[in-house]
Amino acid sequence: ATPTAVMVGTGVGASQGVLIKGGLALERAHKVTCIVFDKTGTLTMGKPVVVKTKILNSMVIGDFYEIVAATEVNSEHPLAKAIVEYAKIFKDEQENHAWPEARDFVSITGKGVKATVRGIKVMVGNKKLMCDHGVSIPDDAQELLAEAEEMAQTGILVSINGELAGFVAVSDPLKPIAREAISILKSMNIVSIMVTGDNWGTANSIAREVGIDSVFAEAKPEQKAENVKELQAMGHVVAMVGDGINDSPALVAADVGMAIGAGTDIAIEAADIVLMKSNLEDVITAIDLSRKTFSRIR
Ligand code: ADP
Ligand code: MG
Repeated sequence: ATPTAVMVGTGVGASQGVLIKGGLALERAHKVTCIVFDKTGTLTMGKPVVVKTKILNSMVIGDFYEIVAATEVNSEHPLAKAIVEYAKIFKDEQENHAWPEARDFVSITGKGVKATVRGIKVMVGNKKLMCDHGVSIPDDAQELLAEAEEMAQTGILVSINGELAGFVAVSDPLKPIAREAISILKSMNIVSIMVTGDNWGTANSIAREVGIDSVFAEAKPEQKAENVKELQAMGHVVAMVGDGINDSPALVAADVGMAIGAGTDIAIEAADIVLMKSNLEDVITAIDLSRKTFSRIR
């Protein structure tokens, strides 16, 4: 394509809310054979809500959520925000929404959080977090986890002083357009893959719902980038679509990194293309534009 065609291409992109950072990004996009999608906030709404709670000891639900929220209010994770939002239901309307103080708060990437609240040691997170700290998971809790995963929900466990105390299921629905976007990409001969820090069970259920065949789950940020590199080593030209800080290494590693406009600044900086309107279907707009600019006019 001529420099003029590239300028026109990026201009058309910009007018449609697809910000392309330079001609090279526009050029690479038409060669893409495989797209790696982050799950949370990219394929899903990214606004999880609590859909189920089961207290496994003798605690009253209000007291349970008071302690859990006091811990999670210190976390930036979307799951934490969902839990704190839900916990407010059990607060008195008159009271302000201050939670008890949490001491020694620690956030463990990919696993959860822990803190001491009112002298009680609290942990909120997944199976791995509980296993790492020697908290045994009884059969009823295992069943609740399996049930949640089957329904594409994320099951979260709560332990109090080293004993499993409760279960919380959180749902983060798919974006309405996600399924159709994946199907259109398939018709364009582009393979879609999902990558997530979430557990395998939930990840597989979401993938099934959205029509994606291949999944990398329980992935740490560096692993997301490794997954991209593996696909490149197989001969794929890889685009990565993500919104989070933890997606930025993969956005950089990909041949074309695409950030959701509503995502974090770090992801937007790491990306070659920014989907300003945060519409998933603009992944297709970007590739179409590149194909029109580079495949026809030669
Ligand atoms: P993702 O953003 O894709 O969910 P993360 O690596 O951030 O990936 O988290 C992976 C998993 O770790 C979550 O699905 C959850 O089970 C657990 N986790 C992480 N942070 C928290 C938290 N603040 N509260 C509860 N669970 C958490
Ligand atoms: Mg995300």
